[in-house]
Amino acid sequence: MRLFDTHTHLCDRAFDKFRDRLMAQIAASDVKICVEVGWDFASSQAGAALAEKYPGMVYAAVGCHPHDAKDFSEKQLERIAELVKTHPGVVALGEIGLDFYRDNSPRDVQRYWFSAQLAVAKELGCPIVIHSRDADQECFDTLKASGVMGKNRVQIHCYSGSAEMAKEYVKLGANISLGGAVTFKNARRPVEVARSIPLENLMLETDCPYMAPVPYRGKINNPTYIRLVAEKIAQVRGVDAEEIAEATFRNALDFFGIEYEDKV
Ligand SMILES: [Zn+2]
Repeated sequence: MRLFDTHTHLCDRAFDKFRDRLMAQIAASDVKICVEVGWDFASSQAGAALAEKYPGMVYAAVGCHPHDAKDFSEKQLERIAELVKTHPGVVALGEIGLDFYRDNSPRDVQRYWFSAQLAVAKELGCPIVIHSRDADQECFDTLKASGVMGKNRVQIHCYSGSAEMAKEYVKLGANISLGGAVTFKNARRPVEVARSIPLENLMLETDCPYMAPVPYRGKINNPTYIRLVAEKIAQVRGVDAEEIAEATFRNALDFFGIEYEDKV
């Protein structure tokens, strides 16, 4: 089985004490590729450096998360754009979006940098990683109005909205990424999405160190747990985990424009 974790935060402090060991564990597992996602300028640079250290196994997405919007700057956005344009390991702009659940940055500041980063992504034509929490309709409307849908490849990461909105996103060509939440006991919505989304539009992620799947819920998540997400989605759809793993692996390669050859 080969698995693709489309959303990791391996540069998070949570891994400081055992990052090298974890990277060796990932290399020895079925997880062949991770996309390391930046949440601010420093973590974006760190993600690009991690991609350099583990070429072919780690790629990076760079951008400013809505939580960190309050500390972002025009200068940093220029350098983010530069990374997307020139760094061979950087495959997407993200994660960007709106988070009205935590409101760690004022909403108008979130909106400003979301739109500014969408404009840059549109100009560059790069894949985009979207974070949306408790802001589903506004995020959808902003994406639609920005002109990136149908032009850029767009991933809604850790999708938590309704199955109906997932359908609307798919109509506009977006991909939906699911993680540990599908395994949670009361996961009615993510399970409905996992069942109904076309396989061509589905991707898998851990969002580690967050969102660890059952039976590790509440613990530090890591990419090797993504197998549990694939197994749960397979169970919900009544197919083999192998089929989900392989289809989502190929979807992710296409989405990020990565060429991959199996080492035999
Ligand atoms: Zn994330």
